[in-house]
Amino acid sequence: MANVLVTNVRILDGTGEYPYTGEVLIQGNRIRRVARGLRSLPTVGATVIDGAGATLMPGMTEAHTHFSWNDQPDLESIQRMPPEEHTLWAAKVAKTYIDAGFTSCVGAAAAKPRLDVVVRNAINSGLIPGPRYLANGQEIATTGGLGDTSPPHIPAPELSFGWVVTGPEDMRRAVRMFIKYGVDLLKLNISGEEIAGVAAEETPMCDDEVAMAVSEAHRRGRRVCAHARSAESVKMCVRHGVDIIYHASYADEEALDMLEAAKDRHFVAPALAWLFRTGRDAGPWGIRPDSPIAIKYQREAEIACETMRKMLKRGIRVLPGGDYGFAWIPHGTNAKDLEYFVDHCGFSTMEAIVSTTKWGGEIMGRPGELGQIKEGYLADLILVDGDPVANIRILQDRTRLLFVMKDGEFHKAPDMAPQRSRYGMGVVA
Ligand SMILES: [Zn+2]
Repeated sequence: MANVLVTNVRILDGTGEYPYTGEVLIQGNRIRRVARGLRSLPTVGATVIDGAGATLMPGMTEAHTHFSWNDQPDLESIQRMPPEEHTLWAAKVAKTYIDAGFTSCVGAAAAKPRLDVVVRNAINSGLIPGPRYLANGQEIATTGGLGDTSPPHIPAPELSFGWVVTGPEDMRRAVRMFIKYGVDLLKLNISGEEIAGVAAEETPMCDDEVAMAVSEAHRRGRRVCAHARSAESVKMCVRHGVDIIYHASYADEEALDMLEAAKDRHFVAPALAWLFRTGRDAGPWGIRPDSPIAIKYQREAEIACETMRKMLKRGIRVLPGGDYGFAWIPHGTNAKDLEYFVDHCGFSTMEAIVSTTKWGGEIMGRPGELGQIKEGYLADLILVDGDPVANIRILQDRTRLLFVMKDGEFHKAPDMAPQRSRYGMGVVA
């Protein structure tokens, strides 16, 4: 592919530095040069894109993604979708993410054993558009815990939403099986979840199961993430080295101390959208805001925000990722999480941007080459009409994404039509 020079942009580089006017030269799939001011980089041999003062920033990362959740109101509707339809659905969702400016996503569990792996492979081979993706397996659940949805009178594991295990040996078998299928990471359901009938503050999975999962995964170079709402489940994650901790709402002071002491090893993604909107916006789907279950979610949202506020102060990496893919939180609206961080968790807009860019590159396992605009970094970039530092909400507006580039290739090319030229964006051969 030809070199691309993006000029006349405000560079929001993902390091936390305030945007500056400059230009960026992309060669192949990497950022080759970054310059302050204008007209300092050579235009020869490059397609020149005049950004007309728009903001150039790294593509965003979603830290808790389920391509196979199907925008329905319950787990059963996800699970009952046949594999053929489900694969096509997940492929469509993958495109939705990159359309929305998310060039990286961390898979937080798939509804069927190989769904994520197949979609990741299709993206990587160029068969379908989508973000960089870390593929997960099914949620690994304990008998009777979150994810064991088979009815007592039909003890068939295939009828369960998660992959059900009891004891360390069963866990070892499950982890090895998903690794055989090709996953990048494994998901453990350590704590409960109100909507599934197991309280969020309960911890059905035990230490020996978690320890086994982590040791088997790490042995093969795979990472582990966990559904961990209760304080005890967060402590288990730190004790046994679970790399990515989802939710962590009820982390107490002891859990926070442990996490802070190991903050370079862990990432946290609270999935706030799920808490906020299940508590408030799911009425049309039978979860009225004044119902006991909705009230539990409202309470957890409040506590989770307080916990994230403390984590931010302690320097723990907290990333956006909201468990999108239910009827009241459909895929593609994910940048709303950044607004929650700013409005409810004490993040500055810049801290929210760093969490979805710099820390995004780190959670993707590519620190030093992904998630920032620096020379030598991978060219995953979005050009945004407006200033996200002044208003974080504009990242939710897809029409403001003037281009989306992943790995040096345009997913969405800049519009060079006459109406766009009036705005000032153009191409100079
Ligand atoms: Zn989830």
